Amino acid sequence: MDFSLTEEQVAMREMAKSFAEKKIAPTMEEDEKEHRFRREIVKEMAKLGFFGCIAPEKYGGNETGYLAASVMTEEIARISPSWGLPFNLQMNSIQSVLLNFGTEEQRERWIPKLINADLLGCFAITEANTGSDVASMKSTAVETEGGFVLNGTKMWISGVPVADLGIVYMYTDKAAKHRGMSAFIVDMHAPGVTQKSIDSKLGLFCAPTGEIIFEDVKAPKDCLVGQKGDGFKICMSMLDNTRLSSASRAVGVARACLEHSVRYANEREQFGQPIPISK
Ligand SMILES: Cc1cc2nc3c(=O)[nH]c(=O)nc-3n(C[C@H](O)[C@H](O)[C@H](O)COP(=O)(O)OP(=O)(O)OC[C@H]3O[C@@H](n4cnc5c(N)ncnc54)[C@H](O)[C@@H]3O)c2cc1C
Repeated sequence: MDFSLTEEQVAMREMAKSFAEKKIAPTMEEDEKEHRFRREIVKEMAKLGFFGCIAPEKYGGNETGYLAASVMTEEIARISPSWGLPFNLQMNSIQSVLLNFGTEEQRERWIPKLINADLLGCFAITEANTGSDVASMKSTAVETEGGFVLNGTKMWISGVPVADLGIVYMYTDKAAKHRGMSAFIVDMHAPGVTQKSIDSKLGLFCAPTGEIIFEDVKAPKDCLVGQKGDGFKICMSMLDNTRLSSASRAVGVARACLEHSVRYANEREQFGQPIPISK
């Protein structure tokens, strides 16, 4: 198997590396200390085409693919894992769901705004008592004449409380178990939606994480993605893509640890001499 990158992928990796070193590194420590999310960073990443990798040109994408996205995510996370998150929130989650399961109208309406970061995205599965066991969620979407009424509380959602648009999973038929779950694309500023920050984290402080409360949120019919009951399937497919991005972030962090360790070992003296290490 040939694992070498194309010229285009190498160029994108270099662009992300340079962006991370010039735009993120100088203020990173202070930003993490202050728990500062900077929307303009996401906007600048968008201008460089970072979030267009998986979408066709007709939606504003560049179709450079998941590998290009992954090597860029790795370079950003090498400097700051917090700023690797937008790849997942703007692209690997919502865009993959709309490209694989959405209608043409949903794609045209939302994907360009996610690519250029006019809208900040999130995806909401987890609840207070629902983590790995996705099917145990309690949130419900009840169909009415005009659309759906959404109720429930989602926890540990990346991008909250600054999200504008979310792909949200809820039950339309709890009795049907995982076959009764559905996926919705929801305006995070709709009446009845409340976003709250969760501050009890151990790291990733520039990447907001929060809780979303849905209280009788009236969502229009066209917010349903796929068919009613497709939610579990859509969620599992989405997680394949978000895990790819999470893994790229982990590789970036591991590289940074290795680089720092080697640098320190090369500087360190003990017993009056440099510690022996191979260069
Ligand atoms: C910083 C952060 C950001 C997040 N962002 C999002 C987001 O954007 N959207 C979202 O929906 N969620 C998000 N989450 C939630 C995340 O997806 C959940 O934490 C995850 O699903 C795991 O759930 P849990 O923490 O309840 O762990 P649990 O499900 O309780 O699992 C705990 C441990 O037990 C293991 N385990 C679980 N079940 C079994 C079993 N049957 N057999 C053996 N081992 C098992 C797991 O592998 C894990 O190691 C985020 C979480 C964090 C911390």
